[in-house]
Amino acid sequence: MIRPGPEAIAGVEELLAHALALESESEARYAELADSMEVHNSPETAELFRRLSAYGAAHAEDVSRRATGLSLPAISPWDYKWTCPEGPETACMEDAHYLMSLREALDLALHNESRGRDFYAEVAERSPHPEVRRIATELRDEEEGHVALLRRWLAEAPQGEGRQADDPDPPNMPE
Ligand code: ZN
Repeated sequence: MIRPGPEAIAGVEELLAHALALESESEARYAELADSMEVHNSPETAELFRRLSAYGAAHAEDVSRRATGLSLPAISPWDYKWTCPEGPETACMEDAHYLMSLREALDLALHNESRGRDFYAEVAERSPHPEVRRIATELRDEEEGHVALLRRWLAEAPQGEGRQADDPDPPNMPE
């Protein structure tokens, strides 16, 4: 779950601040994943990630437009930064990411799209503000679409593909 949870979404400004940060984060992370899939020679997955990066950029622009004239509060990185499926300690987005297999990349993306979807879903359900609930419902549906897309890709990805074992210059792996 993304901290601090839906009870901190006091109004439209807080929701848009989170949405803007989440979308910009996914734009950046997907661009990195696309680069790493190109290195990994998975051009189709790279293309999927470029598309998702472009959605992030378009949504961020959309949110900025909605926020015109409002002053958005500053929020903390842990409210929007991507996390690893195995837990926050794993350096999945740092020095290891270029060794990531196609399945690991899709898993990482699915994990974070699901977090975004769950965040919006909770706000949509629990906010006392009708306008906040309305916007959160739209955002939840968009994220749900991304979750469905990634699940489909994951279902079609080859099984049992692990990390590249023979990397000549491995980064420092925590182990
Ligand atoms: Zn998304």
